[in-house]
This record gives sequence, C-alpha cells and structure tokens, in this order.
Amino acid sequence: MAITQQYIDVAQQVANICEACGRNPEEVCLVAVSKTVTADKVQDAIDGGASHFGENRPEQIMEKHAMYSDSDWHFIGNVQSRRIKDIVPCASLIHSVYKQEHLSKIDAAARDAEKVQDILIEVNVSGEESKGGVTPEELPQMITQAVAFENIRVCGLMTMAPQGSIDVARDCFRGLRQLRDQINASGILPEGKSLSELSMGMSEDWQCAIEEGATIIRIGRAIFSEAFAR
Ligand SMILES: *Cc1c(COP(=O)(O)O)cnc(C)c1O
Repeated sequence: MAITQQYIDVAQQVANICEACGRNPEEVCLVAVSKTVTADKVQDAIDGGASHFGENRPEQIMEKHAMYSDSDWHFIGNVQSRRIKDIVPCASLIHSVYKQEHLSKIDAAARDAEKVQDILIEVNVSGEESKGGVTPEELPQMITQAVAFENIRVCGLMTMAPQGSIDVARDCFRGLRQLRDQINASGILPEGKSLSELSMGMSEDWQCAIEEGATIIRIGRAIFSEAFAR
C-alpha cells in the first residue's frame, strides 16, 4: 500500500534528520494528519507504524477515534465553542487553543470526561493576518489564564509557518522556540511547571522545524497524498 510505505519513508527521514542535527528521534512525535482521507486509509498508516493522528474537524476526529481508539488523536483545527464537548473526549492533545473564552469550556468538558485535557497554545508568530493564534504579546496572559484551570494541562506551543520560503519558516519556528524559552524563564508558570512541547512543521517544512527544536511535527500530504510520494 502506498500510504504504508510513505509513512515508513517519512518516519525514516525523521530519524535521519534527528540524527544529523544531534537529536534523539524519540523526542519528536510524528503526527500523521489524516484529515484528507477516509477512515479506512488510517489502517494503512497504522500498518506502517503510525500511532498518532491529527484531524481538524470534530466529526472526523469522533469517527476515526471511535474506529481506532488505541491510537492517539490530536485535534489541530479551528476550535469552535459549541464543539468543545465533542472534541475533548477524543483528543489526547488539542494543538490549536488561542481564545481565552474557550478555556473554561475545555476545563468543564474535561471534568465531565474525567480527564485532564492536554493543550497547546497556538501562536501567530509570523503575524500573517490569515493565521490563527495569539500574538507573542498576548501569550503570557493566555498562559497565565490557562494554567489556572484544574482540568487543563498546558504542554507547550504550536504554530503554522507562512508557505513559500523555507527561510521565513525557519525564522517562525525559531521564534516559537524562543517564546517557549522566555515563558519558562519568566516565572509566570506555577512552581515546578514548564512548557516542553513545540508543535511545528508540516510536509513542506518539517526538516527545518526539527532543526529548530520541534517536538511534534504534523505531516499530512507527505504520508497520505500519492502526488507527494518520492
Ligand atoms: C493540514 C494541516 C497539517 C498538515 O499539512 P500538510 O502540508 O499536508 O503536511 C498540519 N497542521 C495543520 C494545522 C493542518 O491543518
């Protein structure tokens, strides 16, 4: 199966890049973004070794999580208030939280599901208007608010780089890492807590994301699109 082989190839390339830049491949979680394929295709990626998947629509994460509940399901899409109660029971990690008013809803849904919801705060590092996320200036306040909820665990930050230039993407990824390090050094987190995760890098730019410290990469087309196979 093409998808099985493409997953195996990407996982091998990830290990190679990690080694080339002196990182342990186990520090980098490869999330296979299955948003463009039907649920039956998920099995092909599982056959290649995939265990983390990403979806951007509530219906899709619900359907696929129900079919493949042994895998970890990441929500990477735009969060809508009224769908939070659907997303929380399925999502091992929500990457794309950036509205303060969503925090109390996530906390309540997590309490109902008897879990602590892991989240990332999405940051608009590049400043592109089409992109979601808090601004770097808004980030400390967002973090301060999020860590106050008992049923939320803030694990780190997520960003999307502008398309087109790998140098611009690299600046964006480096910027996210610096923001994380600044937050950790700032003293705004409760005693003993720190942000570890950096979710950054997609099919076109994940190599430089790993070089800049990504701990989670989100790969769609390079795994699931035949046009992308090399
Ligand atoms: C679709 C999507 C991806 C995967 O993009 P590819 O270019 O297909 O690898 C990653 N992150 C988010 C937030 C997405 O919506």
